[in-house]
Amino acid sequence: MERLIGVDIGGTRTRVGAVRAGQVLARRVFPTRGLAEVKEAIAALLKEVGWEKPDAIGVGAPAPMDMRQGLILNAPNLPHWDGVNVVEGLRETFRCPVFLGNDANCAALGELVHGWKARNFLYVTWSTGIGGGIVAGGQVVWGATGQAGEIGHITLDPNGPLCRCGKRGCLEAIAGGAALGDRALERVGQRLSAKELVERARKGEPGALSLIDSACLAMGQALAIVAELLEPEMIIFGGGLTNSWDFLGPKVVTGLQTMSRVRPRVELTKLGDDVGLLGAAALPLHFPKL
Ligand SMILES: [Zn+2]
Repeated sequence: MERLIGVDIGGTRTRVGAVRAGQVLARRVFPTRGLAEVKEAIAALLKEVGWEKPDAIGVGAPAPMDMRQGLILNAPNLPHWDGVNVVEGLRETFRCPVFLGNDANCAALGELVHGWKARNFLYVTWSTGIGGGIVAGGQVVWGATGQAGEIGHITLDPNGPLCRCGKRGCLEAIAGGAALGDRALERVGQRLSAKELVERARKGEPGALSLIDSACLAMGQALAIVAELLEPEMIIFGGGLTNSWDFLGPKVVTGLQTMSRVRPRVELTKLGDDVGLLGAAALPLHFPKL
């Protein structure tokens, strides 16, 4: 399989790429909509790179799913994808094998195959939501149905803020970009993007700084739980909030080191914004036996 298409469906943006030997030959990035827009983007890419058809397509999505059937289930973040059978839909159009996986687990696969290539690590995507993927002994840990590694939904405070998953006090409800925006409204009196909140915290505004400090502490705590459990050699971060890593990173690492005896190396992804796309494109070659 040489001519691969990777599809990384994000809460905000979708990235589709034509990939050969770990190189993205061409890509399309557009606001997330539905299956029709993904098909259009794939068709345009095939034309651009001169492929009649792909050898296989891999798709990563931030949603509960039936990985075996290729079906996205009750996805609160992805209204156009609820109940969509991605595998059937794309297979009919492009007449090649199609595979679907959790987006953060795909990103971990991308990092394993094309990025840092460590044998034991946790990949964390920190953006609107918080996702995670585990690599242990050189293999992605998919779990019983493909949803393993959901660090964003580790409960840190049972009486904490309500999470979009329905539970209280998940890491995502404390430190996710969307949750930080909601909490800014309560604490700073204004709805701010996570980026704006970080900028205010940098200037030392007390309300903003306390929200960012508690988000970073919560992230460090969740990482410490995982570190004690798995003894990873690395923790690798990607996602939009890592654009402010110079400010957030040291706070997260301090939290982690305070709460864990295991001291994994903490780094940013080597693959930048393409990590999910490259991981999705690697899925056809590394699809688990569930
Ligand atoms: Zn949750």
